[in-house]
Amino acid sequence: MGDITKQNVDAIVNAANTTLLGGGGVDGAIHTAAGPELLKECEKLGGCSTGKAKITKGFNLPAKWVIHTVGPVWSGGQYNEKFVLTSCYQNCLKLAEEYQIKTLAFPSISTGAYRFPITEASEIALREIKKHLDQKSSQIEKVLIVCFDEKTYLHYLAQLGHV
Ligand code: ADP
Repeated sequence: MGDITKQNVDAIVNAANTTLLGGGGVDGAIHTAAGPELLKECEKLGGCSTGKAKITKGFNLPAKWVIHTVGPVWSGGQYNEKFVLTSCYQNCLKLAEEYQIKTLAFPSISTGAYRFPITEASEIALREIKKHLDQKSSQIEKVLIVCFDEKTYLHYLAQLGHV
């Protein structure tokens, strides 16, 4: 449980929106902590499609990099939401490998303003991270999932079989 902007890792993941120009929730917190240079770099990226990921520097954050991904808005489950959330985790992990990132922190993508059910979202997150780290070719040493509230934290623990 904690604030992702305070994590001493090589990269943190931002649950952004398609404009990449900042928003509320974790996106707002990351832009505030990183400083205005982050927005300037984001403006050059031309947005990001849902399910994809793009990387910037971390500026004033302890993390060297920010990987911006756009989670799906939950619209009842019939609109490929699970597939798209899976792609978010996969594309972030792929980008992390390309930049030789060893330690990485994720927020709980899509489970805030985008209303993705936490049980399904935590299952996807943990499954995709484990699957990736199980690959022999992976250079990533540590992945954190940083939960901002206790309810979210307890769901991830339950999904891990720890409660
Ligand atoms: P989305 O639009 O993808 O749902 P939100 O930012 O609304 O993104 O919420 C995603 C998750 O990030 C929520 O669980 C929210 O509580 C959490 N969150 C908000 N601020 C922070 C923060 N500073 N560090 C980590 N997680 C955060």
